[in-house]
Amino acid sequence: ESLVSAAGEAEERALESALRPKNLDDFVGQQRVRRQLSLVLEASRIRERTADHVLLSGPPGLGKTTLAMIIAAEMNAPLRISSGPAIQHAGDLAAILSSLTEGEILFLDEIHRMSRPAEEMLYMAMEDFRVDIVVGKGPGATAIPLELPPFTLVGATTRAGLLPGPLRDRFGFTGHLEFYSTDELELVLRRSAMLLDLKVNSAGFAEIAGRSRGTPRIANRLLRRVRDWALVHKLEQIDLRAASAALDMYEVDARGLDRLDRSVLTALITKFNGGPVGLSTLAIAVGEEVETVETVAEPYLVREGLLGRTPRGRVATAAAWEHLGMVPPAGAMF
Ligand code: ADP
Repeated sequence: ESLVSAAGEAEERALESALRPKNLDDFVGQQRVRRQLSLVLEASRIRERTADHVLLSGPPGLGKTTLAMIIAAEMNAPLRISSGPAIQHAGDLAAILSSLTEGEILFLDEIHRMSRPAEEMLYMAMEDFRVDIVVGKGPGATAIPLELPPFTLVGATTRAGLLPGPLRDRFGFTGHLEFYSTDELELVLRRSAMLLDLKVNSAGFAEIAGRSRGTPRIANRLLRRVRDWALVHKLEQIDLRAASAALDMYEVDARGLDRLDRSVLTALITKFNGGPVGLSTLAIAVGEEVETVETVAEPYLVREGLLGRTPRGRVATAAAWEHLGMVPPAGAMF
């Protein structure tokens, strides 16, 4: 069984990369970030210098990795990919940095999860293209300076606020990615359907887009689930009924909430009477890490007006009670 799911996961990853837009023009939405970024890249081409370091922040699946790949493609530069959790020791980072070539783009995903010593090494590397490699231990330890070729760091984080100030300040440009509108998600889906050679009618696209949680990765994932459903049911074209039947089966509700979203709201309402309750208490109640609740579930719930952040803690809004089919208590605090 694990073999099957591993193969399934590999296929999902392969499909995900096949659907990735390869240039800024194919990248749907995010007008503001796209325009700013294209200016940064154009300027560095004119100056014939490596581009400024770029920080991309926003919830998972909104296109941070895709943008890093596009930056490399637009700069005609090689791309190196690593992530904060993979860099636990300063030495891990030193090994990556010392093997970069001139103009290379270094993408560090989840950059807020890097260890402290690595982070401090990164400050110097970003600013002066130099690192100190410490050799030996104790009183005999010496720092050997090492020059680096100029490179561009593209950092990604689910929340810019999780980054220490000194690191944030060293990026020349910060782009904050927002959730996508339903119209934008429809564009993403139309492009993907074309690449996958799938027939979907307008109502079908609208239904999938509306349940995609403002997130292109989810839109593409749902499209593949609906495709499976259509295949098994021998449908020539995916319509509203097919899309909604398939998505109901995968427990994506009409508003796009997934299981984690719903369990956060359900805990907030049934265990804490709608709040206010502190974030960490809420995370324990749903059995998730604080960071997951805060950066994966909350941003969308807040945007949808289902959850509020108050100085005293998280509260479920009247719309949240209603969404779960419950009646808020009289005098509830929203
Ligand atoms: P992140 O790094 O923010 O978690 P990714 O860049 O990996 O997100 O994007 C996930 C998937 O969503 C990609 O495979 C890509 O196909 C799709 N995607 C993301 N943003 C866009 C976009 N603006 N237009 C089209 N597809 C997108």
